[in-house]
Amino acid sequence: MGQISLNQVTKSFGDVQVIPPLDLDINEGEFVVFVGPSGCGKSTLLRLIAGLEDTTSGVIKIDDTDATALPPAKRGLAMVFQSYALYPHMSVRKNIAFPLRMAGMDQAAQDAKINAAATALNLTDYLDRRPGQLSGGQRQRVAIGRAIVREPSAFLFDEPLSNLDAALRVGMRLEISELHKKLETTMIYVTHDQVEAMTMADKIVVLQAGVIEQVGSPLELYHKPRNKFVAGFIGSPK
Ligand code: ADP
Ligand code: MG
Repeated sequence: MGQISLNQVTKSFGDVQVIPPLDLDINEGEFVVFVGPSGCGKSTLLRLIAGLEDTTSGVIKIDDTDATALPPAKRGLAMVFQSYALYPHMSVRKNIAFPLRMAGMDQAAQDAKINAAATALNLTDYLDRRPGQLSGGQRQRVAIGRAIVREPSAFLFDEPLSNLDAALRVGMRLEISELHKKLETTMIYVTHDQVEAMTMADKIVVLQAGVIEQVGSPLELYHKPRNKFVAGFIGSPK
């Protein structure tokens, strides 16, 4: 589960092709980071995988199913939005349970999933609070909790920590990495922050103007950057 492949995927907005033909394989359980400067197409690529944007051409497979034309809800993936996407008038419990209520799950089954997610995210003491009564880091965890209860085959994160201050960001990075170890679920994480990429990723995908410049582990990219762009961006000595 959580195996995703892109085959000759392109995306144009009007006449502008922002993703030229692109191939990418993401393996089950991997923590993959898309990194690159602002405007290079990271969010677009993530949204194509999530189904929030239609591909202009090419094929997206998820676990051997052709998902190219599937709506987001049928892809089995969960996009984690920034914490401000929480419902301010609902308790943490209700925010986390939202996708389950929408799916019509009975209360006992909902409670079991909420409790498991809250335990994994250290939120058990906060379930009856509202988002406004939480810290930025706690709100971000609630947003992740809402994804966890859906038991997706992959989590998609788009710069989830960019609203947090520097100290909190360090803590949340560790928490997301720990969560990945616990769940062993595929995670795709978009950031423009090289440090985040180097410290969190199993596999880094370096993008420039919609083109994959290199795919590799943090060490591979550091020691064997394929070109000056990758070297400069990753900060390796080459
Ligand atoms: P990143 O997330 O790496 O900052 P994006 O994926 O948001 O980059 O954007 C890639 C390019 O596509 C940019 O040039 C952006 O202006 C353009 N773009 C993104 N979304 C749209 C859209 N809905 N309509 C037109 N252009 C878009
Ligand atoms: Mg973006």
